[in-house]
Amino acid sequence: MSFTLNDLPLRDDLRGRSPYGAPQLDVPVVLNTNENPHAPSPALAKALADAVAGAALGLNRYPDRDAIRLREGLAAYLGHGLTSAGIWAANGSNEILQQLLQAFGGPGRTAMGFEPSYSMHPIISRGTGTGWVSVPRDVDFRVDVDAALAAIAEHAPSVIFLTSPNNPTGTALETDAIERIAQAAPGVVVVDEAYAEFRREGTPSALTLLAENPRIIVSRTMSKAFALAGARVGYLAAHPAVVDALQLVRLPYHLSAVTQTVAVTALEYADELLGAVADLRAERDALVAWLREHDFRVADSDANFVLFGEFEDRSRVWRDMLDRQVLIREVGPPGWLRVTVGTSEEMAVFRETLLRVTGR
Ligand code: PMP
Repeated sequence: MSFTLNDLPLRDDLRGRSPYGAPQLDVPVVLNTNENPHAPSPALAKALADAVAGAALGLNRYPDRDAIRLREGLAAYLGHGLTSAGIWAANGSNEILQQLLQAFGGPGRTAMGFEPSYSMHPIISRGTGTGWVSVPRDVDFRVDVDAALAAIAEHAPSVIFLTSPNNPTGTALETDAIERIAQAAPGVVVVDEAYAEFRREGTPSALTLLAENPRIIVSRTMSKAFALAGARVGYLAAHPAVVDALQLVRLPYHLSAVTQTVAVTALEYADELLGAVADLRAERDALVAWLREHDFRVADSDANFVLFGEFEDRSRVWRDMLDRQVLIREVGPPGWLRVTVGTSEEMAVFRETLLRVTGR
């Protein structure tokens, strides 16, 4: 008997939808999911193992439901006068975004984003029964603020996503644009700053806006700068009232004791980890310059990845790169490809392979 998804009593609004699905392939050069290429140092790995060993002795008990130690550590890391009351943590920033939509979105409500942007924003919106309105970015992948204000007036979204630096384009938003959008927004404005630590000198963070704007929420992650994608730790900074709202939807004990202790330990190594981020930023800037020298178009990047093009047949380039053991990402506007910044050795292989594949 053949039984498929279509035979199940799936929600009507989920029928025909595609799941998130970046390929996870075992090739030597993996540059497709914006991970940090540096594994934890031996010293950090030992500290993590010791912390987990300590937590193991208490695993018969539920973890701290409020993750207080971790939230205190994150507040100290972010600065800007934040305290643990204005911080919330979850299993990756994806779970943070889901909790935000559970609290502020939902049936009969709408979320809005400026695309191309992070593909999970519409997926999580729909998963929580929230309508999705997509507003196109301009030719330079910037948010056209006047178009944004018109769309906000038309749709009155309960949740607005501003991704800065944006994935997959790498472009960041100006503070002024965020403020104007927040002033017009009838609901909450989520500034997804997953790549904040990679931004170039002078690019602002929306953390500076929190004190004056209680409906702006900044979402961050330890997956990228802290090289902790495998541990699943994301967090937000916002007015404490936002954290109160999330208590109504979060699952009790959602963040395991193992996760909490791993994250607290990694925060103690912030200096070391941010040093490696500085190296990756330099590698990113060199990559952008190299691509431009070779006549590729490149979006300005404040992130740990670069969107470049334009290709008549980007699928062919993606496939030819993969055939030569270099996995990049076919994502974003037609004709463009995205590459995550890896180690200098990986980037040398990337450059050589790209030249060969494109015949430049
Ligand atoms: N936001 C953006 C813009 C992202 O690119 C990603 C990961 N690719 C995330 C959020 C989610 O990251 P995580 O769940 O690992 O924190």
